[in-house]
Amino acid sequence: MTIRLGLVGLGKIARDQHLPAIAATNGIELAAIASRNAGLPDLPHFHDIDALLASGTAIDAVSLCTPPQGRFEQARAALLAGKHLMLEKPPGMSVAEVEALGRLAEDRGLTIFTTWHSRAAAGVEPARALLSGKTIRSVRIEWKEDVRHWHPGQQWIWEPGGLGVFDPGINALSIVTRILPEAMHLTGATLEFPENRAAPIAAELAFSTDSGIPVAASFDFRQTGPQTWDIVVVTDEGTLKLSLGGSRLSVDGVERMAEEDREYRTLYGHFVSLVANGRSDFDLAPLVHVADAFLLGRRKVTDAFHD
Ligand code: NAP
Repeated sequence: MTIRLGLVGLGKIARDQHLPAIAATNGIELAAIASRNAGLPDLPHFHDIDALLASGTAIDAVSLCTPPQGRFEQARAALLAGKHLMLEKPPGMSVAEVEALGRLAEDRGLTIFTTWHSRAAAGVEPARALLSGKTIRSVRIEWKEDVRHWHPGQQWIWEPGGLGVFDPGINALSIVTRILPEAMHLTGATLEFPENRAAPIAAELAFSTDSGIPVAASFDFRQTGPQTWDIVVVTDEGTLKLSLGGSRLSVDGVERMAEEDREYRTLYGHFVSLVANGRSDFDLAPLVHVADAFLLGRRKVTDAFHD
């Protein structure tokens, strides 16, 4: 069976990644778009998901590519209409609202996939395998990018629920929570908020794993020039480095992996297999850490930010 997919929110990530990945994945095809201001030639187009679901257009699943604010209502509508569901990261604005979606999907026997695209980066599974059984000494995350370049004009990112610098930072947390052999918890944080914005522009985070390994993270949205998306894990048998968002892997400076980006093709392939097997992939760990940062973080007010 080919999954007929309705895509909701035809914005930057939908165009850059979802459309080509869907076209390149067997077992799924784009059947309709719901987006207030954008459509595609030759495809049924609706203003929003409610109009799509009310239209009777034949779809089996929905992929939500909208901002996290408002995602809950859209996701709930899709599940209540009997559609399998794929969620862009972060899967929602709060932990509790996403848990509610998980329960609803389970009750209805539907697939829910909380995607974490960075976990599908080429170096991540090899890094996980390399770290298995090793004694880890420390972990250092540096995730620094230029918000003006990567999120031009995206006002939602600065609103409550938009996460600010945690929008990219949660990608790093999704990788670390996948590659480390044990869980971690936040022990302290400082969040810098521009005086005119509701979401942080930078954050310093300290975690400890269950056995006490320190994990430090620096997130910053003000980085110009070269961009940094690095995770360094020091073990008793050498230093592992994931760079460029997880697509490059090196050990003690020797490159082990450098592959072209296949993140979203991997996600859609996984979704097809989840639906075929009646399963879900539902992991909120990265969102829990971000929620904890807002709970524990010391707030610092910094210069106003203007696009
Ligand atoms: P975006 O460019 O702003 O696109 C989101 C689209 O959703 C908009 O074009 C808009 O289309 C629709 N939308 C529906 N309700 C909206 C609302 N209340 N406010 C704004 N737009 C609304 O955002 P994006 O970068 O694609 O990000 C969407 C999601 O993907 C986010 O959760 C983000 O974290 C995730 N993501 C983004 C990237 C990236 O590099 N940009 C990478 C990975 C994941 P209409 O106006 O036509 O309705």
